[in-house]
Amino acid sequence: EACNAAVADAATLNAFIVTTPDHALAAADQVDADRAAGRPLGLMAGVPIGMKDLFATRGVQTTAASHILEGFTPQYESTVSQRLWDAGAGMLGKLNLDQFAMGSSNETSHFGDVVSPWRRSGSTAGLTPGGSSGGSSAAVAARLAPAATGTDTGGSIRQPAALTGICGIKPTYGRCSRWGIVAFASSLDQAGPMARNVTDCALMLQAMGGFDPKDSTSLDLPVPDWSGALDANLAGKRVGIPREYRMDGTDAAILKAWDDGIGWLKDAGAEVVDISLPHTEYALPAYYIIAPAEASSNLARYDGVRYGLRDLPQGANLQDMYAATRAAGFGDEVKRRILIGTYVLSAGYYDAYYTQAMKVRALVARDFAEAWDKCDVILAPTAPTAAFALGEKLSDPLAMYLGDVFSVPASLAGLPAMSVPAGLDGAGLPLGLQLIGRPLDEQGVLNAALAIE
Ligand code: GLN
Repeated sequence: EACNAAVADAATLNAFIVTTPDHALAAADQVDADRAAGRPLGLMAGVPIGMKDLFATRGVQTTAASHILEGFTPQYESTVSQRLWDAGAGMLGKLNLDQFAMGSSNETSHFGDVVSPWRRSGSTAGLTPGGSSGGSSAAVAARLAPAATGTDTGGSIRQPAALTGICGIKPTYGRCSRWGIVAFASSLDQAGPMARNVTDCALMLQAMGGFDPKDSTSLDLPVPDWSGALDANLAGKRVGIPREYRMDGTDAAILKAWDDGIGWLKDAGAEVVDISLPHTEYALPAYYIIAPAEASSNLARYDGVRYGLRDLPQGANLQDMYAATRAAGFGDEVKRRILIGTYVLSAGYYDAYYTQAMKVRALVARDFAEAWDKCDVILAPTAPTAAFALGEKLSDPLAMYLGDVFSVPASLAGLPAMSVPAGLDGAGLPLGLQLIGRPLDEQGVLNAALAIE
């Protein structure tokens, strides 16, 4: 129904790193028990979901798709996954991802590429499901799971959702607790749901979100009833179209989908206005300084002592063990990020790169803050292209990074942003449109997405 490729067997997708059927079955049994006892059912009662393998799950291996964490079994549960279990959900398994969530194609995983269930018409070539939440997007698109968790640092919920024809929302920074999520870039990381439709995303986000005293950046605010307040009537709403997002290198089919989206939002009663986000072109380079800088610091903890892998050569001292463990445990992309991050934080380079990038981040955030005088929600593409072939960009990191051009600005500004399916391109591949909202206005984002869906 959703995909144009017949998936012979789920294993071809390589979406799951481990499966946990007993966990999902226990949630189903709990529904029966609660019903029999007349107890109220939770928001996610009995729903079997996939869990991106970046969330710590008690008693279940948590790898971040890295060799360095292989065999690490947490004694604790992430806040977000615990909330989902408390709401009645069960876990089908841990989903594959780009190693430490660094990537846009799910080709940096220690456990191999995830293959999209989609194919270009007339071709059998394997395509990327997007990244870093590529296991999540592939599993939901192929109907292996009705919903899955994702995390988004610079687009990793939205871009894989767009490339596989599903929905995904990154809430306002601070809505979902980061406690128990393997850290990539802490000032950007946010969890969110990936599901078939807007309503399912709204429901699941309600279960995932909320204040957590264990995360100092968690917002101490009640979780609104987003699903109950869904409304596709956009009368009185102004939708901003950022002119700087009309960039060279964007597929014609995506520009056409963007125009279609403008039409659908007008049909829903919205007024469409032209807006300017003048610092857009600097967002991507700033992101690729800030995210690696934070990553280089966060990943310092993988030392061969505390988690997973330990490589202790014969006669080695402590320093040798660190070096051997990290050399063997981290993949190439992770090492590239650590090197870049360490460089931009070094004495002598800090001001030239890191401070400069932080200034750009403030300007990008200010662009959005000024845009909210003219509009209530912003419509843009999610990614500049549809799914590309596995292997196509792997040897060219810059080409890969360029694919994040439309998703990183909202990340730098901490804004809620969602990708919603917007039809197929000429080759039969799904396209996604992105809605970006004011801080805390997940409702405005969800409602506009509902009008497009
Ligand atoms: N593709 C981006 C990166 O590689 C975003 C990843 C993410 O959001 N986790 O950094």
